Amino acid sequence: MSKRDYYEVLGVDKQAEAKEIKKAYRRVAMKYHPDRNPDDPKAENKFKEASEAYEVLSDNQKRAAYDQYGHAGVDPQMGGGGGGNFSDIFGDVFGDIFGGGGGRGRGGPQRGSDLRYNLDLSLEQAVHGDTLKIRVPTLVTCKVCDGSGAKKGSSPVTCGTCGGQGQVRMTQGFFSVQQTCPTCHGRGTVIKDPCQACHGQGRVEETKTLSVKVPPGVDNGDRIRLSGEGEASPDGGPAGDLYVQVSVRDHAIFERDGKHLYCDVPISFPDAVLGGELEVPTLDGRVKLKIPAETQTGKMFRLRGKGVVPVRGGSAGDLMCRVVIETPVKLSKEQTELVKQLQASLESSGSQQSPRKSSWFEGVKSFFDDMKA
Ligand SMILES: [Zn+2]
Ligand SMILES: [Zn+2]
Repeated sequence: MSKRDYYEVLGVDKQAEAKEIKKAYRRVAMKYHPDRNPDDPKAENKFKEASEAYEVLSDNQKRAAYDQYGHAGVDPQMGGGGGGNFSDIFGDVFGDIFGGGGGRGRGGPQRGSDLRYNLDLSLEQAVHGDTLKIRVPTLVTCKVCDGSGAKKGSSPVTCGTCGGQGQVRMTQGFFSVQQTCPTCHGRGTVIKDPCQACHGQGRVEETKTLSVKVPPGVDNGDRIRLSGEGEASPDGGPAGDLYVQVSVRDHAIFERDGKHLYCDVPISFPDAVLGGELEVPTLDGRVKLKIPAETQTGKMFRLRGKGVVPVRGGSAGDLMCRVVIETPVKLSKEQTELVKQLQASLESSGSQQSPRKSSWFEGVKSFFDDMKA
């Protein structure tokens, strides 16, 4: 079944502001809310569809990706499974209507928390991609009790407060609201004899070693999602996700701006005067660059396609080489003599051989003229 357009699901147009989207979601979600439509799978589907649409459109980053690439642009690893973290959205949007109380108004097991891991990459790793091992401290399901939290041989017993429902019903205004049971926190069971390995929590701390595939072309701020590698659920629900946040270290030679790279290339004074062939570095090794005669310092040469291929596709960027003329140092007597001869020769022919200097002098002169006026 093909997925409906998210804007259509919420009944807003593509330019809708965040406030409108939230309002539209609230309207649709109220209409199809499971509490108001018990045992109506159609309503439940509409409710889920709206929640998924809201999850994407309420997040600027996800919305931009959706606008550009459609459903394919939003978390391809989700595989259209949807749902995700919608209990959180639910809490966010309905919190102000239902007036807190701590309950989210929904039963069922909780999803484990998402985790974030900051991954430092060299420029080469970011441009070419890499596979790395990372160590992430997280909470995993306790193996001794299989996550139940109860001591081996015993099992959790039904909660007396909610009779095992995990929810208690409260009435507020027009609504009859389900709230998480305060005694068992929604589990529906309580533990009389806790597991010693996890102290009844059902989860233990563990540092997991994970392999992260970094796709070529990633840049600062990109996120790689490892589905299900977040914290284990506290009560048998799905695990959260791990978001690997990329940051790229500064490089000794190259500076990156999106898909383009920049670097300074020092050249000798005679090379600048006479022109010639330079070797310039690229991320894939050295290449030759022809410099015309009479090249000025600061001149930029563009090497097409020697930049970065963006992670989201498209053509490779360029490498911009900025030429910097080096003043020769530690001259011998003879070399100094040659420079003096050159100097005398240039001075005798006036200023037309120094294009920047002459225009600079013009500028200074008119500056002083202006001062006098
Ligand atoms: Zn345990
Ligand atoms: Zn209970």
